[in-house]
Amino acid sequence: MMSEKKGILERLKNDVVLGAEGYVFELERRGYIKAGPFVPEVVLDYPEAVLELHREFLRAGAEVMVALTYYGDREKLKVVGREGDLEKLNRQAVRLARQAAAEGDALVAGNICNTWIYDHNNHAETAQRVRQIYDEQIRWAVDEGVDFIIAETLDYLGEGLLALEAIKKYDLPAMITFGSAQDTLREGISHVEACQIMAREGAEIVGLNCSRGPATMLPMLRQIRQTVDVYVAAQPVPYRTTPQQPSFQSLKEEGHGRGFPIALEPFLHTRFEMADFAVEAKAMGINYIGICCGGAPHHVRAMAEAIGRTTPASRYSPALDLHPMIGANVKEKDQQFLEYWKDEA
Ligand SMILES: [Zn+2]
Repeated sequence: MMSEKKGILERLKNDVVLGAEGYVFELERRGYIKAGPFVPEVVLDYPEAVLELHREFLRAGAEVMVALTYYGDREKLKVVGREGDLEKLNRQAVRLARQAAAEGDALVAGNICNTWIYDHNNHAETAQRVRQIYDEQIRWAVDEGVDFIIAETLDYLGEGLLALEAIKKYDLPAMITFGSAQDTLREGISHVEACQIMAREGAEIVGLNCSRGPATMLPMLRQIRQTVDVYVAAQPVPYRTTPQQPSFQSLKEEGHGRGFPIALEPFLHTRFEMADFAVEAKAMGINYIGICCGGAPHHVRAMAEAIGRTTPASRYSPALDLHPMIGANVKEKDQQFLEYWKDEA
């Protein structure tokens, strides 16, 4: 029963909570979501694909099943001509997350996100439309039984405040995380200051998600951790961002075009690098540690194990010592070929 499950705040008080996202990117790679609009039509068209990915993240150690309502709002559905499916999609997404969560001890989060509608220079008019989007998505999520709400990838402090206001109409914890494609939010305010404001206004969990890889997100997280006294969340993208190319939107390879959003493979972090991130974030005092676009179950399992957990999928964690060539017992007939398997060139 829901009432016997420990809530998100109780879990965060006791330990790090491991999250996992990147549903839209992963389901796009699997052929169920169209890149460009990135609308999660898969929730209605192939619900079993969504359920399976939830299950994979759950088996990998994720403690929160995030309902796939990212870009499932009325404006986004209009882009693909499916505004008539709005409520159905939002309710179905939560039901799928709940079904998967019940297979383990996971919580269910409702999800709202950046709207692409908000404009701080035209606050009065655009805030009204954003409010409608957040209000209806949260109402359906609450009605379907979520445990808390994640508002994420927000580009504006204004969106954060509207999201928090909408969440706090209900007695549910709010996790508000900002995107960081630019050095500041769109209003020109720093991410640190925005997190401080969200914490002061009553968000229980604040932080960053998407846009940056661990290398360029961790310095910002350190500052946020030092300046707020609420829980801090970090869900970077698993890409090798650098000071020169700090976000995955800016990643470019010499001789190739922009990597974002569907040619990012050359920059992908290994599971080991994401495991290192989890360890470092935990040591820094980050409370909710996850992954965003580009993340996949193998990353999540490695992150979980790195912070001392054993997951259902750990049963199949690597045992490279059993490999015929790089393992401990190379057959005599194979030994003459070992030079082709050397660690160093
Ligand atoms: Zn993302």
